[in-house]
Amino acid sequence: MTVAYASIKGLAYYDMRRGYNGFTLITPTEGTKVYLIDMLGNVIHAWEMGYPAATPAELLPNGNILFAGRVEGAPLTGFEGAGGILLEIDWDGKKVCEYQDPYLHHGFFRMKNGNTLVMKWVRTPDDIAAKVKVEGTDPSYWLESMKRGGPMWDDAIQEVTPEGKVVWEWVGHEHFDTEVDLTCPICPKTEWSHATNIGELPDGNIMASFMELNTVAVINKKIGDITWRFGRKILRHQHFVSVLDNGNILVFDNNHHGYVPRQDSRVLEVNPEVANPSVEHMHVRVGAQSNAIAWSYEEAATGLFTACNLCSAQRLPNESNLVAEGEWGRIFEVTVDGELIWEFVNNLPFYEAAPGRPKPCSVHGAFRYGAEYSGLKRLGIVDESAREKKQAAPGKERVKVSEEEQKKTTEEFIAERLRRLGY
Ligand SMILES: [Zn+2]
Repeated sequence: MTVAYASIKGLAYYDMRRGYNGFTLITPTEGTKVYLIDMLGNVIHAWEMGYPAATPAELLPNGNILFAGRVEGAPLTGFEGAGGILLEIDWDGKKVCEYQDPYLHHGFFRMKNGNTLVMKWVRTPDDIAAKVKVEGTDPSYWLESMKRGGPMWDDAIQEVTPEGKVVWEWVGHEHFDTEVDLTCPICPKTEWSHATNIGELPDGNIMASFMELNTVAVINKKIGDITWRFGRKILRHQHFVSVLDNGNILVFDNNHHGYVPRQDSRVLEVNPEVANPSVEHMHVRVGAQSNAIAWSYEEAATGLFTACNLCSAQRLPNESNLVAEGEWGRIFEVTVDGELIWEFVNNLPFYEAAPGRPKPCSVHGAFRYGAEYSGLKRLGIVDESAREKKQAAPGKERVKVSEEEQKKTTEEFIAERLRRLGY
């Protein structure tokens, strides 16, 4: 069913009364560009990065793009999320700074002090690797790769200055607990934890998502201890996590062969006050919905919402959520009530696609920035001529959507689109 989405390219739906007005930064998986689009799907600005992306890029408050690139020939290039270079590029495409480490992978986070948190793979010492346990006790889950010996890798998190100096480091295997931090029984035993995303909490501590542990963790930055864990037997290879203004945590829970068999992805808002780690580990049963989940978006009934690895989720100032269902190139805004109010399917120009290959549309993720965002201050100057060429710049002429159209529910809208496509 989800294929239908890939058949519609560009702006698919826009409830102008409720969509959070702004510009959306899109990081495709193909090509080496990052695009900024308006609410109608027009490309307003694009940056040439010189590398394919390893993770969603971000537009910083200073108007620069922070971008993790995938370097060919990196030692662990076969691992999902491999990177190797972090670039900060200004609005005009000029490089401001770069940081290289062949073991960099996945996400990054620009800290309040101007430094950047990065993640890298580190070799798990063999004596610790031998003690790593897998979730579940049924050996039939274990693939041949699980029984095989060989190197195991886990994650380090580093704080790097703009000059490229590492000023803080946390090494996973020095703090993971082999009795608690159990790895996935299905994924190859080449990685213990597989970090995908990091962030700095308001109190200065670090939040990280470890996919293979099905765990979102808080790390005490001073002493390195993991002080809070959430997700074991609840999350299913989550990727993207962020801290909300209310102190809760927004997490994109993918569905990649999770402990609880389901077909769909979901976005969860987790209340960390309720999700006490000791309670989590002692009492959560398989399939149980933790009372720590304050809100969720899912499409269990229709199966129309699925992303295995590529995804992002962002809580917007109007309390709606911008979600990227990356494999399908689908980016949508949904209200707290689960109502679709904006939808775009990636149709950006990928002239780099190999001849004969289908035009790819997948994206690493997307973020929306309000029109007043400081990082967009160059918009009005540099791109005025480009914007005038567009049929409808934000705040001026808009797509005509009839009242009747606007009253349609999400279900009616999807049903109509599927009908039009012959499904
Ligand atoms: Zn797995």
